[in-house]
Amino acid sequence: MDKYGFTGTIKVFGSPAEETVISRPYMIRAGLFDDVDAVIDNHSSSGFSTSYGTSGNALFSTIFTFKGRTAHGASPWGGISALDAVELMNDATNMLREHLFYTYRMHYVIVEGGEAPNVVPDKASVWYYVRNSDDRVEEMYEKVVNCAKAAALATGAELAEIRCLTAIHQRHANKAAAELFQKNIELVGMPEWTEEEHAFARALQKELGRRETGMSDRVGSLREPSGTFVGGGSSDVGDVTLVTPTATIRFPGQVPGAVSHHWSSVATNYGTTAWKGLNAGAKAMAASAIDLLTKPEELKKLRDEFEAYAEENPYRPFLPEDAVPPLDLNEELMKKWRAMMEEFYIIH
Ligand SMILES: [Zn+2]
Repeated sequence: MDKYGFTGTIKVFGSPAEETVISRPYMIRAGLFDDVDAVIDNHSSSGFSTSYGTSGNALFSTIFTFKGRTAHGASPWGGISALDAVELMNDATNMLREHLFYTYRMHYVIVEGGEAPNVVPDKASVWYYVRNSDDRVEEMYEKVVNCAKAAALATGAELAEIRCLTAIHQRHANKAAAELFQKNIELVGMPEWTEEEHAFARALQKELGRRETGMSDRVGSLREPSGTFVGGGSSDVGDVTLVTPTATIRFPGQVPGAVSHHWSSVATNYGTTAWKGLNAGAKAMAASAIDLLTKPEELKKLRDEFEAYAEENPYRPFLPEDAVPPLDLNEELMKKWRAMMEEFYIIH
């Protein structure tokens, strides 16, 4: 910026523990995006592409904790099993599935389920991801909360805590931003992969039982948003798209067919393919930033579209006002894994 005399401010935002989709609504609440004209978001991918319109699911991430009364497992008459409440809640939500509109996703893990079979568990908790479109997620969440209340009533356990970790919107990406990013993605082009890199990709695809196509060799085209939304994953950048014009540059480097949240994706975010893909994405982001800093008419297109959209769809956070960032989440897990991961870090 100094060399070419660009004026403006570039801010770099992290998204801590991005896969937990927690940070952005808290960052917005703290005012971090208040004076931001536009956001160039990025995400890893096997392709090199961008998109616009509504995608992904809104998501409520919540831990339900039940408290009961402990007793000897072999003479349990005086006890109340908190685990029974968790199981009953899960039975109820699984029956609820049948009647939810097909845009939903719902999954859970039992975080605490007791300590030993011969001790009636007096505490149990279950962590839910409740996902749906922006207009359906709140009603669905209320139904899930009712399942928890009903399980407490039936078992005599107390629904002791409903802890909201995050609550986020769908992504509503800006079309003018996506069109600008697309031009720069095409300008940068797909990295040239070596035969060795293709061979690595094909070996991984073979292992996964996927088509052995190697690395992607063409950038994606800017597609119209698909007509029928059928739900899927979520990103907390969704909330950002509602406070400032935003679109995402998905940068290449992953092997096509690698499975998300799975060792195969982890394996592909490593080595020369990851490095080349990351640099290609960085160039497309830099070129887009230059356009936005030097061509006020380009920025105006993004702003005009955003302001018209925001007028119709003013930002109303799903995150409850009293929610606090769950800094303790995964602390134990990270303690266990970080030391083992450290030996694989590449320090340049
Ligand atoms: Zn992600």
